[in-house]
Amino acid sequence: MSSAEDLEFKILAHPNPTSPERRAELIANPAFGRVSTDHMVMIRYKEGLGWHDAQVMPRGPLTLDPSAAVLHYAQEIFEGMKAFRTSDGGIAIFRPDANARRFRSSAERMAMPPLPEKLFIRAVDELVKADRDWVPEGENASLYIRPFMFANDAFLGVKPASEYLFLVIAAPVGAYFSSGAVTVWVSETYTRAAPGGTGAAKCGGNYAASLLAQAEAKENGCDQVVFLDAVNHRYIEEMGGMNIFFVFDDGSISTPALTGTILPGITRDSILTIAREKGMTVREEPYTVDQWLADAKSGRLTETFACGTAAAISPIGAVRTKAGEVKIPQAPGPVAMSLRETLIGVQRGRVKDTHGWEHRV
Ligand code: PMP
Repeated sequence: MSSAEDLEFKILAHPNPTSPERRAELIANPAFGRVSTDHMVMIRYKEGLGWHDAQVMPRGPLTLDPSAAVLHYAQEIFEGMKAFRTSDGGIAIFRPDANARRFRSSAERMAMPPLPEKLFIRAVDELVKADRDWVPEGENASLYIRPFMFANDAFLGVKPASEYLFLVIAAPVGAYFSSGAVTVWVSETYTRAAPGGTGAAKCGGNYAASLLAQAEAKENGCDQVVFLDAVNHRYIEEMGGMNIFFVFDDGSISTPALTGTILPGITRDSILTIAREKGMTVREEPYTVDQWLADAKSGRLTETFACGTAAAISPIGAVRTKAGEVKIPQAPGPVAMSLRETLIGVQRGRVKDTHGWEHRV
């Protein structure tokens, strides 16, 4: 038998694809995550049989047994990445190999069978090829790709499942945040991840647990929540769906270190690399919320920005805590904008890619 990496994909083209006119309309005005492309990829896993039955098929509903393990014990992981139209008219996915690696380590943490990285990338490629007309043109637009995997054993005992489904779906998207700098809320009520927990894995449960904190942020007039560490309740960790960077008046930048409670963002990693190449001093170190607020007031801190696949880099303009609001001196600031320019430049093929980050489809 050939290895899982070389599985053949059966292609079931959509019998009734979206018309070019309707597609153009949907792409021109995509509400984030509401519009979907015509196809999906599905691969099955069964203990003893391994990964099998790889298909590109018309996107549609799934049928699950009510005792499917994911519905009870949340054995589920996912990824998020983007395909861009490049300046030469091609299509490139940004660092899918890094998403494949993170997907594998998320699977390991959730006691799920790792999907071979090569198969993950092939699955993503197959979907983008089938739906290539859905990759939007235009500076802020892209195709958001969502690979995910969940336990679909029909069994009510608490144990790692023996059957899983891996799927890839995609959606054309515009700019994630509608405009400019965001205001963030520092939650002193809720934490996201404790040492030894699942903070470094991209599993659905982490997001379920973050929703109430995000609601608290909204109630306080903020766009996004910032989480503090679960032990001391002092150190800044990350946001609900983005990592965070601080810029100082000596030109250096810092971001919280990856200690196991933070998601290792691929944008975070790319920014660290780009910043070092620009000759900046870069630190991965603990930083307390009190110090952040004091540094913003004194001017030692000049900028703060959030980063992630959805919004690339978004400047943070103000921080709210129970004690009140502190403005960040520059939002957007020149450092965030310069890093953003380079990052987006590489994603869109305008800046030379010296790291093999561009994956052409
Ligand atoms: N932290 C969290 C909790 C996230 O959900 C995300 C989005 N995947 C990030 C950080 C940023 O990760 P990336 O740059 O890989 O999108």
